[in-house]
Amino acid sequence: MSKHRGLLIVLSGPSGVGKGTVRKELFSQPDTNYEYSISMTTRQPREGEVDEVDYFFKTRGDFEKLIEQGQLLEYAQYVDNYYGTPLEYVDRMRDAGRDVFLEIEVQGASQVREKVPDGLFIFLAPPSLSELEERLVGRGTESDDVIASRISAARQELEMMNLYDYVVENDEVEKACDRINAIIIAEHCRRERVEKRYFDMLKENA
Ligand code: 5GP
Repeated sequence: MSKHRGLLIVLSGPSGVGKGTVRKELFSQPDTNYEYSISMTTRQPREGEVDEVDYFFKTRGDFEKLIEQGQLLEYAQYVDNYYGTPLEYVDRMRDAGRDVFLEIEVQGASQVREKVPDGLFIFLAPPSLSELEERLVGRGTESDDVIASRISAARQELEMMNLYDYVVENDEVEKACDRINAIIIAEHCRRERVEKRYFDMLKENA
């Protein structure tokens, strides 16, 4: 079988940056050609959320069983709840040659980076980062304390970027989606990803 494995695409970034909004916009586009991996969570459904569509809603006990059984690609505790990615779906889709898209918080993304080093890791950055300099020094009205805490928040965000391949600024949702789709197209053209398929083909026909 010469079918190549699908790409694992990970979108992450600091909390509040708009990962969910960008992901929903991507999957509302008719020509989106990758699969969304629905996460599991122990948090309560919000109004309008549907089980098995937005999340697989689980009890804590069930979630902990899944952890023990090794059924999660990654998981994290975030604001007192568990969130995690079911391993079986990701493997099945990728084995079938489909790209799989995860939208997860940063602790989970770093676990995936270790387990799937050839994944595509995209960091969604807050627009405030580019406005930061202006805000920090521009007006000269902020107190030293406020400036210091903004610098420290920005530094933490920058340090998180370290394990990602690409950084996409979320200045406007549509623009962020266009950049993400451009990155995915380019990623499929990377020599490291493409050449193996050519060599495999030669081997098969040798
Ligand atoms: P919310 O409760 O607002 O739906 O999600 C809270 C946070 O959990 C968001 O940052 C979201 O990206 C993250 N999240 C959603 N699913 C997963 C997952 O499967 N694993 C991890 N690690 N984080 C997730």
